[in-house]
Amino acid sequence: MILHLLLLGLFFLQTVRAASPALVIIDAGHGGKDSGGTGNGLVEKDLTLDTARRLQAKLNDAGIRNVMLRTSDTFIDLDERVAMANRYEGKNAVLVSIHFNAVGGNAPHGLETFFWRPDATALATRIQKHVAAQAGLANIAINRRRLRLTRNPTIPSVLVEAGYMTNSAEARRLSSAKTRDAIAQGICDGIEELRREGEEGIRRVPEIASPLSRPTDPPDGGQRIKI
Ligand SMILES: [Zn+2]
Repeated sequence: MILHLLLLGLFFLQTVRAASPALVIIDAGHGGKDSGGTGNGLVEKDLTLDTARRLQAKLNDAGIRNVMLRTSDTFIDLDERVAMANRYEGKNAVLVSIHFNAVGGNAPHGLETFFWRPDATALATRIQKHVAAQAGLANIAINRRRLRLTRNPTIPSVLVEAGYMTNSAEARRLSSAKTRDAIAQGICDGIEELRREGEEGIRRVPEIASPLSRPTDPPDGGQRIKI
């Protein structure tokens, strides 16, 4: 009986722990020689750094510990970013990587949040919901996709694609500091909701055994989940 209670307690502790991050690792996508995507005069690496800085300020205001993987226009390889994030394994940390989309054509638009690990389901769900609401971006879906920044970290991680620079209307909005501030606010709100409500009402995706993601892997469309 005591053992059962102990096991139940451990299980509970683990669930709560996974769902209530104490530390946010902020990754501003691209940087330095890697500009990321471009569209309508916008350069992804600049938008990601600006949004990451805004997110950091909001997390600081909310009293949530955080670390920025880059604070200036510098290049960091994806595998190095993963290694940097993995140093926080066991410290109740989550990784949030900020990106903006660029594809040919003016039609695609909206917000998509990528994740892979089951314990990142709630993080992805809550961030997607709040960024869509705060920034007024179309809620495409959360997308379970095996990427280097979603599969390889040993902590829960998400990659937010916060709109399309290649869509002229969305680019106009992304060029405004107000929109980038709203995106940062949405990410912060999602993290605060996760700390408050944990995984309540959210079903984790099942565990899938899979190799680490490599740059040579063929592109994978992932599995879009409407929330
Ligand atoms: Zn990117």
